[in-house]
Amino acid sequence: MTDDASRQQRRKLQREQVKAGRTVMAAGLATEPRHAEIMAIAHVIKAKLAERGNDRRASEAAALVQNLNETSLKARPPTRVSIACGKGCSYCCYGYVGILPAEAFRLADAVRAGKSGALDVATVRARAVPLRGLGPDQRLGRKLPCPLLGDGGLCSVYADRPLVCRQATSLSLPACIEEFEGQDRNGRIEVSTVHLAHSSNAHVVLLGALAATGLPTIAYELSSVLDVALSYANAEKRWLAGEDVFRDLPRTVVRPKQVEQVAAAIARELR
Ligand code: SF4
Repeated sequence: MTDDASRQQRRKLQREQVKAGRTVMAAGLATEPRHAEIMAIAHVIKAKLAERGNDRRASEAAALVQNLNETSLKARPPTRVSIACGKGCSYCCYGYVGILPAEAFRLADAVRAGKSGALDVATVRARAVPLRGLGPDQRLGRKLPCPLLGDGGLCSVYADRPLVCRQATSLSLPACIEEFEGQDRNGRIEVSTVHLAHSSNAHVVLLGALAATGLPTIAYELSSVLDVALSYANAEKRWLAGEDVFRDLPRTVVRPKQVEQVAAAIARELR
C-alpha cells in the first residue's frame, strides 16, 4: 500500500471513530461505561483538540465533556439518594477548586461575553486577588468566595462551570457547614456517586485526549488560572501554540493516581 493510500485509510478510520463517538455522546454514558464507549468519546475530543486553525479548540473540548456530563446525568440520573444541595446554597464555592486550563478558558470566555451578569472581567480579577497563593489548607475557614460566585449564592457562570463543580452534590449539609467553618475534612464530604462517576468519566476522557494531542494536563487552582486566562486577550491561542502562560502559578493540584493511570491508558490508545 502506498503512503497516500494508508493515509487515506487512516483518515477514513478516524472519521468513522468520530462518528461513532458522537452517537455515544448523544446517548450519554453509564456510570460504569464500557471501555469501547470511553474510547469512542475520546476520539471525538481528540479530533476537536486537533482541529487546525481553531484557536478555541481547548475551551470547545471542555464544553463537549461538560455537555457529555449533563447528557449522562439526564440519561442515568441518581436514584435513592438525597442530595442536600439547594438553590443558593454555596458552601462548596468557598473551597479550593482545581481545574484544567481548557475549563479556565471556557470560564474566561463566559465572563468576557457578559454571561456572568454583574461580574465583569475587572471585578472577577479583583476578587481573585485575596485568594492568590492560598493552598487548600490556607483556604479553610477563611470564607473567601470563588470569584465567580454571584448574588444570592448563585454561580454566575452556572452553564459553563467546570466538571469538578458539577460533581459537588453533598449528601450532608452539616458536613459542608463544618468545612466552611474551618474543619479540615480532607475532601471527605460524601457526594452522589452517580454525579461523581459521570464527572470523572468526562474528566479522564479530556485528560487522555489532551495528553494524546501533546497538550499540557496540569491543573491549577480555579481563581489563579482564571485570572491569568483573563489577563491576556489571547491566552488560549498562546497556550495552544505551546507558550506556558501559566508558568508562574503554583502546581498544587494533585490528582488521584488512578485518574492519572486511566487517562494515560486512554492517551496511549488514542496515539
Ligand atoms: S465556578 Fe461556580 S460552582 Fe464552581 S466554585 Fe465558582 S461559583 Fe461555585
